[in-house]
Amino acid sequence: MKRVALLGATGSIGRQTVEIVERNPELELCAVAASSSRDELLQIARAHSVPHVSLAGDPPLEELIAASDPDVVLNAVVGFAGVRATLAALEAGIDLALANKESLVAAGPLALAAQGRGGGRLLPVDSEHSAAMQCLEGRPLDTVDALVLTASGGPFRGRTRPELADVTVDDALAHPTWSMGPKITTDSATLMNKGLELIEAHYLFSLPYERLRTVVHPSSVVHAFVQYRDGASIAHLGYPDMRVPISYALTFPSRAPTPCESLDFSRAFTLDFFPPDEEAFPCLALARVAGQAGGGAPCVLNAANEIAVAAFLDGALPFLGISETVERTLARVDAPEVRDLDELLELDSEAREAALASTRELVA
Ligand code: NAD
Ligand code: MG
Repeated sequence: MKRVALLGATGSIGRQTVEIVERNPELELCAVAASSSRDELLQIARAHSVPHVSLAGDPPLEELIAASDPDVVLNAVVGFAGVRATLAALEAGIDLALANKESLVAAGPLALAAQGRGGGRLLPVDSEHSAAMQCLEGRPLDTVDALVLTASGGPFRGRTRPELADVTVDDALAHPTWSMGPKITTDSATLMNKGLELIEAHYLFSLPYERLRTVVHPSSVVHAFVQYRDGASIAHLGYPDMRVPISYALTFPSRAPTPCESLDFSRAFTLDFFPPDEEAFPCLALARVAGQAGGGAPCVLNAANEIAVAAFLDGALPFLGISETVERTLARVDAPEVRDLDELLELDSEAREAALASTRELVA
């Protein structure tokens, strides 16, 4: 029996994880946490006789992990709020199934150092990274020319920058292929999600940014591919369904059965790929530049994006204000290397303050 601590149990990834656990007799929930949907959380805890529950930070996620003694922590909290849990699991040598990409983006070097000390595994839940891990498996990195992450392009694919000026929150939340929480859905509309994923891939797979690419692929059937130096590309395909990478991470390396359909070749389908439009969607380039700058820049990028997305979802910032906030914040906040969690928290707050000031200027 594998004991799973599920953080963010009431969200989009959290609910699908509960379903995977319910269908797999080898998995059990030993802890659940959420900050919203109290009744749903308690209902999950009752239905699965979960002994350890954290609601809205009580107890803190690090304490929940320590008390529940899991074999694997699935971190599906949204945003920087997941950073302590990521670091605590890795430091303790517990396998970490990571959906919470923001924690790795903001705290990459700290997370890898904690993993080095703890010795646990870091298993991506993000579909592209789960796919990439499988395309890369066991092959030396010097044979890899490029890892290519696919992007659906979001609801605004094909629009020019001026055509994005008046889009609404409802427009941004109408994602064509994936059904997800509001923050990542907005990130998909700006393409910041793919930018965060470039940084996530850099830390997960130790590949330099020159060998990380993105391509728009509207049907979201190919999740990633790896191009090797001999001209071969190895791709990972499947219908867009997060239960596949969730199950893969929780049952690695045994690849347990899931209730998900495999591709149906009795119907014709086409696979289209387009280069991303970085002029209409500047967040992708901003993320690449922050990733390449290194140090604390990815933390600043992430913090600014979280502030801007929250303001957009509140109706307090136009869509194009998201990338402008991130750009201004990156230009204003000094982002040296952070050496520990305290320095990271300090940089994150400083970036949030600068981003808030930028959002106010933008709507003034
Ligand atoms: P969501 O908004 O649907 O759910 C977030 C969950 O986290 C909720 O249960 C919420 O209560 C909980 N939470 C938020 N702050 C918390 C805190 N401080 N302490 C404890 N719990 C807290 O989000 P989601 O779409 O499920 O995404 C979760 C993470 O997974 C994000 O980092 C996202 O980028 C990543 N991800 C999601 C998808 C997807 O399909 N939804 C795909 C890939 C990656
Ligand atoms: Mg993804």
